[in-house]
Amino acid sequence: MAEQYTRREVLQTAARGATLVGLGGVGAFLALKAGREGVWQLDVERCVNSRHGAVGVPVCDKCATTCVLALSAVRAVNDHAKCGRCYICPAYFDIKSAVGPDGLPSHKLCPRDAIVRTVIGDFDPRDPANNYYEYVIDETKCNGCGKCVMGCKEPAGLGSIRLAVRYDLCVDCNRCAIASACPDDAYARRPLDA
Ligand code: SF4
Ligand code: SF4
Ligand code: SF4
Repeated sequence: MAEQYTRREVLQTAARGATLVGLGGVGAFLALKAGREGVWQLDVERCVNSRHGAVGVPVCDKCATTCVLALSAVRAVNDHAKCGRCYICPAYFDIKSAVGPDGLPSHKLCPRDAIVRTVIGDFDPRDPANNYYEYVIDETKCNGCGKCVMGCKEPAGLGSIRLAVRYDLCVDCNRCAIASACPDDAYARRPLDA
């Protein structure tokens, strides 16, 4: 059975972590957390927003709405090595919205405008669809609502965006509120890199 911690112990751990981070010891902070019984982690193979085959189903926003922090410890992460750098990214644009005069969907998908789209390299205005675009998540705005993750998933996208817990923000609750609410049992405390 998993060891339970008192609220005082959690706060002491968080306080020690904040001190270590302040000293530039992010690695030490993670080692401190992971050395006990691991850290809360999100399994992308289970989460409905990233799980292959779960298409045409509602987006789950419980990572955004149930974390005890005002702005969830969960964020979207774009794996740029997998990203197609698409002209019309189905995670950035609401591809169901009307097409505007510029030939692009008129609305963005992210409700918090947390994805930044920039053109890469020399831009050819005569053929914008033939250029490449970089999509970067603004972590100060993202709350892990999962919409972009579902939008990027195959077959619409390449599945380069996933949700992940920010270990430096998570206060390591004894019983993670997201784990309790998660309909897919995608949350577990595991050693780092497990
Ligand atoms: S997870 Fe939600 S808030 Fe974060 S970038 Fe994606 S759509 Fe925006
Ligand atoms: S352990 Fe607490 S702070 Fe961390 S993700 Fe879960 S609810 Fe949020
Ligand atoms: S609560 Fe579970 S299914 Fe919902 S977004 Fe978070 S990890 Fe995915």
